[in-house]
Amino acid sequence: MTQIALEPISSIKELQRRIRSLATQKNAIILSHYYQRPEIQDIADFVGDSLALARQAQKTKADIIILAGVYFMAETAKLLNPDKKVFIPDVNAGCSLVESCPPIPFKQFIEQYDNRFVMTYINSSIEIKAMSDIICTSSNALKLVQMVPPDKTLIFAPDRHLGEFLQRVTGREMVIWPGQCIVHEEFSADQIKELKKKYPDAKVIVHPECGSSLLEIADFVGSTGQLLKFVQQDSAKRYIVGTEEGIVHQMRKHAPDKEFIVVPPVIGCVACQQCPYMKLNTLEKIYNILLNEPAENEIIIPEDLAERARIPVERMLEWTDK
Ligand code: SF4
Repeated sequence: MTQIALEPISSIKELQRRIRSLATQKNAIILSHYYQRPEIQDIADFVGDSLALARQAQKTKADIIILAGVYFMAETAKLLNPDKKVFIPDVNAGCSLVESCPPIPFKQFIEQYDNRFVMTYINSSIEIKAMSDIICTSSNALKLVQMVPPDKTLIFAPDRHLGEFLQRVTGREMVIWPGQCIVHEEFSADQIKELKKKYPDAKVIVHPECGSSLLEIADFVGSTGQLLKFVQQDSAKRYIVGTEEGIVHQMRKHAPDKEFIVVPPVIGCVACQQCPYMKLNTLEKIYNILLNEPAENEIIIPEDLAERARIPVERMLEWTDK
């Protein structure tokens, strides 16, 4: 495809208008994660958490899927819709959880257990998914853990905080891989306690990727989608939010009369509330994908690997609906 050079467009509104117009012309759908920049969320056809994005990707009739999120999300969209062209706006949009679980040591780790059942969080590479029995997200993990046959040794990877949370809530023994997210690791219980002193009426809501000391003092623990639903249905007027700050854009839209305070990270850097990988995507990069469909941004998965990784992803969707 002949590449078209991007002319500078100074107005965000004009760039958004061109993206929407090109997306319609090309029958492209833009799926955005809640942690994307607000101006991306505002032009997306759908904004959601990992599970909701996977479902949207599975049912879309669009010819092109632009996954404004991180790489594993675009890979999951491609797995579920292999005939579509799937693009990621920035190929470097990785994930620290994915990096914390490399395939070779993970293979050696799981092979120590004979009667195993491997449950892997969706924030994992395609190679790790291909070694798994089922994938989960933070929305469905509680339900799925309880469906794993009781005689199996349950191995959970890669997020240790989510694994420990599931173990504590369900009482199910697990072997947990020690991975973690650099963003959620930065939030601390002391900071939440300080904020609670200042705002005693505020409810504390956190993502299960946060450490156990935070989860223990939270009023509600849930996936990004569940946190968003909670603030709309709950009666409190103020919330202390322990997750990536991108979700607050949707919270303010859906509950405009409420106040949201994002927990500052331990080292005091405001940007640490933001996922550096998620923030690599920009409107300009999305526009470039629509204009040029660059080969380096298209998700291609070798078919044998895709076949193995698709099984646990489809099993997740099937078990979630049971
Ligand atoms: S917030 Fe953490 S888990 Fe989510 S994409 Fe960023 S690095 Fe990965």
